[in-house]
Amino acid sequence: MYDFTRRSFVISAAAAGAAFGLKGPIEFFSSAAHAQGSNPIGAPQALVDQGFAKFKVGSIEVTQVYDGHWEKAHDEKFIRNATLDETKAALKKANLTDAFVPIPFTITVVRIGGRTIMFDSSTGGQLAPTAGRLVAKNLAAAGIQPSDISAIVVTHYHADHIWGLMAKETNAQLYPNAEIIVPEAEHKHWSAPELVEKVPEGARGNVRRIQSTISTWKNVKPAAAGTEVTAGVRSIATHGHTPGHTSYVVSSGSDTLIVGGDVTNIQSLNLANPGWHLVFDGNPTMAEEGRRKLYDQAVADKSIITGYHWGLPGAGTLQKDGNGYALVPVAV
Ligand SMILES: [Zn+2]
Repeated sequence: MYDFTRRSFVISAAAAGAAFGLKGPIEFFSSAAHAQGSNPIGAPQALVDQGFAKFKVGSIEVTQVYDGHWEKAHDEKFIRNATLDETKAALKKANLTDAFVPIPFTITVVRIGGRTIMFDSSTGGQLAPTAGRLVAKNLAAAGIQPSDISAIVVTHYHADHIWGLMAKETNAQLYPNAEIIVPEAEHKHWSAPELVEKVPEGARGNVRRIQSTISTWKNVKPAAAGTEVTAGVRSIATHGHTPGHTSYVVSSGSDTLIVGGDVTNIQSLNLANPGWHLVFDGNPTMAEEGRRKLYDQAVADKSIITGYHWGLPGAGTLQKDGNGYALVPVAV
């Protein structure tokens, strides 16, 4: 059963900007466009109901935990180089609703070498109204306790990836005993005191929040790109979405899993159309270059790769499909 209520939900321009680093206002809404009991993200309902998907990549045990989704209202400026009609057509082609853009949040947790490592941390229930399920119930439903997690590896500092590290009202650490591994370039960018004044008004909330939490926490370890950030996990610079956005390769023997993060947004838009420049990408040209490079490699290597906004399961192999890529989901 669902543990959330469907209701109208509009947040202020400032809060939206804080969440996603955007310059302009975004309206969040939850519509009754889809019936209770269905899900708009195109995922198998049984997986959404249980709240997680488990699969193995060789000896790597992977659990993907579903945090919920955001029903992003359409906005002419959402994709810089595609029209609203093209956006809606791409959603329809993937058998998704075109009433809004359904953006799921799925967190990847791996177990290798006897350790449990989580990539990113969810919304913490502090963003879209149907998100927050990781903390509320789905992590536990997947058999994982917060105290089991020895390291949290962060792809970038957008709110939907890091606010789950901190309590809503107090900013208290939710994983005080885990090592929090962050991309060095990303950490440096967001921790710079002068950034507050440099970003638009609406984006200052997230900057201030980062600087009063992650920038000061003792268990945060900035790690350079192209290094082994913790046993079995190597970082790959996929900068562009944010200045220090980073993906990771998890290895156990010859088995590898790529944790892509936000190299793309939802696959029906941004994987099918890797040349589309979503407003979430701070440097869209660099983001596109990194996207094509990582995905061409994943196709060539037949790697299993995850995407934070790819739904449930949010992982699979990639195939070339016209000018873009198609995800062949893992069996769960
Ligand atoms: Zn994201």
